[in-house]
Amino acid sequence: MTQPSRLWIKNPLDTFTGNDLDASGGIVIEDGRIAEVLGSGRHPAVPCEQVFDASQHVLLPGLINSHHHFYQTLTRAWTPVVNTPLFPWLQNLYPVWARLTPKDLELATKVALAELLLSGCTTAADHHYLFPGGLEQAIDVQVDVVRQLGMRATLTRGSMSLGEAEGGLPPQSTVQAPDVILADSERLVREYHEPGDGAAIQIALAPCSPFSVTTDIMSASAELARTLDVRLHTHLAETLDEEEFCREMFGLRTVDYLEHVGWLTDRTWLGHGIHFDDDEVARLGAAGTAVAHCPTSNMRLASGIARAVELEDAGVPVGLGVDGSASNDASNMILEARQALYLQRLRYGAESVTVDRALGWATRGSARALGRPDLGELAPGKQADLAMFRLDELRFSGSHDPLSALLLCGADRADRVMVGGAWRVVDGTLPDVDLQQLIAEHSAAARRLVSG
Ligand SMILES: [Zn+2]
Repeated sequence: MTQPSRLWIKNPLDTFTGNDLDASGGIVIEDGRIAEVLGSGRHPAVPCEQVFDASQHVLLPGLINSHHHFYQTLTRAWTPVVNTPLFPWLQNLYPVWARLTPKDLELATKVALAELLLSGCTTAADHHYLFPGGLEQAIDVQVDVVRQLGMRATLTRGSMSLGEAEGGLPPQSTVQAPDVILADSERLVREYHEPGDGAAIQIALAPCSPFSVTTDIMSASAELARTLDVRLHTHLAETLDEEEFCREMFGLRTVDYLEHVGWLTDRTWLGHGIHFDDDEVARLGAAGTAVAHCPTSNMRLASGIARAVELEDAGVPVGLGVDGSASNDASNMILEARQALYLQRLRYGAESVTVDRALGWATRGSARALGRPDLGELAPGKQADLAMFRLDELRFSGSHDPLSALLLCGADRADRVMVGGAWRVVDGTLPDVDLQQLIAEHSAAARRLVSG
C-alpha cells in the first residue's frame, strides 16, 4: 500500500505514549517515523496530505513480543501435555518437534505472526532452537515470512547441544555440534542482521536453556555475540527443576551460571526469569540484563510468578512475551498484557501494578529487552509502529476509561496496526493474507506432525 507523505492520526479517543508526552491531539507520521506528538487541541506544524480520524480508537505504540517459539503453534493444546509441568511437557514434545519440516515451520511462523499482528503486535522475537535434518535453513524460512507480513522481528538462532547421552534433557536427534551451531550463527548475522534504527530483521544468538546446551556453547555464543555486536537470549530460572539441574550439573545457581559463562551483561535478555533471590535480582539490575516476563506460560505450566516489579525497580528492563504457543496456547499480545496485570497484582497489589505499568512492559519494556531504542513509545523520531483498538464491541459496553477498558474488559483484537508507516491491519483484518486457507494448511500440518 502506498503511504501519504504526511499523515495526521487525529484526536484519538485515548492514548498510551509510554512516556510523559500528551498525544491527545494525535500524532503525525512522516517517512515511516513519528514526526510530531500533539497535545490537546494542537494541530500539525505543517499541513498533512491525509488525516485519519481516530476519535473511535485507543492509540498505543505497537506491542512488542519479547519471547516466543513460533513453531509451537503446531502443537497447541496437544492432549499428552495439557496437564503437565515443564520437564515432562518438553520430554513429550521433543520427539514430535524433531519431525518439523521447512513447510511446517513456514506455516507455523505465518500463523504466529498473523495472530500477533491482529492483536496489535508489530515486533516479535522468536527463539528457534530446532534444526533437525532437512531444517538447517529454519531461520532463513522465518526471515521470508516476516518480510511477507511486513512486521519486525528479532529472530534468534537457538541451539541445543547437550543431549540425553551427556545428561541433558533433549533427545540426541535434536542436538547439534558446537562448530555447526557457531558457523550457522555467524552466517545468519552476516546475511540478515540489520543494525540500527528502523531494522525489520535482527538476529540474536540463543542457546536454548541450561539443561539443553553445554557450558562451552554458552561461552562461545557470548563471545561471538560480542564480536558481531548482536544480542543474547536464553531461558533462565523458569522452574525449580531447572534450578536443581544447575546445582547438580554445574554446582551453581542460575545467575552464578550466567555470570560464569559471560552472560551477565546488558546484551542479554532472559526468557521467564522467575526464581531469583534478592541478591540475584540486584545483580541482574546492576548488569542491566533484561527479562521477558511470560505470565500465561508461567501459569499454564505452574512455573511460578516472576518478581517483575522488583526486577524493574532494581534496573532490569522488563518486557512481555507470549512464549511458545504450546504453553500459552495463544499468541495474543494485548491479552498477555491483561494477564501480566492480573498475575503481578497477585504478587504486588493493585496499586503497584497499574494499567500503565502493564502496557509499559508490553511496549517500552520489550523494546529495551530487544535493544530497540527506536521502538516502544510514541515520541518524535521513533518508528511509526502503532496499535489502534476500537471499543464498540459488546465486551466494552458500559466501560468508562477507554485505556483501562482495553485490559480490564479484555480487548483481543486491534482494528488498525501500522508498522513503519504502513498499515498492516485494516478494519481488524490482514489485507494480504487469506486466513481461511492458512488455517486449513496449518491445521493439516499440525495433524500430520503429531501423528508421526
Ligand atoms: Zn520459551
